[in-house]
Amino acid sequence: MKSILVVAGTRPEIIKVAPIILLAKEAYHQRVSVKFCFTGQHRTMGEDAISIFGIELDYELEIMQSDQTLNQIAGKVFERLSGIIDNVLPDYVIVQGDTTTAASSALCAFNKRIPVAHVEAGLRSFDIDAPYPEECNRRIISCFATYNFCPTAAARDNLLREAVPENRIHVTGNTIVDALRRTMERNSFDAPSSVHPSIGDRFVLVTAHRREHFGVGFENICSAIKECALTFPDVQFVYPVHLNPNVQKPVNDILKGIPNVILLPPVSYLQLLALEKHCLFILTDSGGIQEEAPTFRKYCIVLRDRTERTESVTMGLAELVGVDKQRIVSAVTRMIHQPKITFPDRSPYGDGMASKRILDVLSQ
Ligand code: UDP
Repeated sequence: MKSILVVAGTRPEIIKVAPIILLAKEAYHQRVSVKFCFTGQHRTMGEDAISIFGIELDYELEIMQSDQTLNQIAGKVFERLSGIIDNVLPDYVIVQGDTTTAASSALCAFNKRIPVAHVEAGLRSFDIDAPYPEECNRRIISCFATYNFCPTAAARDNLLREAVPENRIHVTGNTIVDALRRTMERNSFDAPSSVHPSIGDRFVLVTAHRREHFGVGFENICSAIKECALTFPDVQFVYPVHLNPNVQKPVNDILKGIPNVILLPPVSYLQLLALEKHCLFILTDSGGIQEEAPTFRKYCIVLRDRTERTESVTMGLAELVGVDKQRIVSAVTRMIHQPKITFPDRSPYGDGMASKRILDVLSQ
């Protein structure tokens, strides 16, 4: 029996580890025992995802404090996770992705000689400043992870180029597709008016929260949305706004009061999926949403200069526009006038079997 400690702290991490935890309990309970530790890096948004998937919390680090620095997060994770690892003495610690929770939990385990399994390994933007601090976090984990579970062949190739030994790399698909399929099997995603009564049939979904866009970047994004909303009064722009004050301020200053811009508080995972399903297309700087969009056959205009989800761009399912106002406006205008895009039957990010592949490796 292998003992696995899964550590996650933000909404996207929880969404992406949930199918592993649930499948381990449903189908691998004779071979693995799983404990889940929630660091609380995103307390409210994380709890929403935990309750939607019905995951049991074994440990909580309660690190959340408003407006705290990355070093405060890392410091608290180190201090509080250490004792939990000593208590559980797991065979493996699973971390997901590239957050401060993931990098500090992985290093905490490595310092105690506990093998680290990294889910969603090998993503690279090749720009250490964007996404910040995520590009650095994921590179740190790849230096020592014993198991690198890569979502795609491109991610595997990135690790091979960094001389990660081949026997430490497994291409599994991204568990976000498992999470999505699992959720779609259990929910119908009614009309988007269930998310907010004023949402109609023709709307663009907007999400933006990246730290490197705080300041001028956000002002540009919001000014572009404003221009598009005024140019296309029959199209709504639905934007669930991240709680970070650096996001809230420019969004409220520039977009509040425009009749066809619907600003919402962060919506639950189920509501976000309903918006993805029914929107015309998506304007986003989110990594997870770029991965979910092909399942819904929705085009992404990506508010970044580089992406580590290159598959969608290569296949013509997404484009990069950065945070340049005119490029955003032109891409939105083009998509409103000529929205036909052909999507492949299978998402480039996975087939819904990633969690099984990961557990097959870890339960051996
Ligand atoms: N998401 C959500 N509610 C929102 C925005 C996003 O549930 O208001 C989900 C989304 O479906 C995806 C994940 O959160 O599964 C992506 O997280 P986010 O954009 O915060 O971070 P990133 O993926 O860029 O790290």
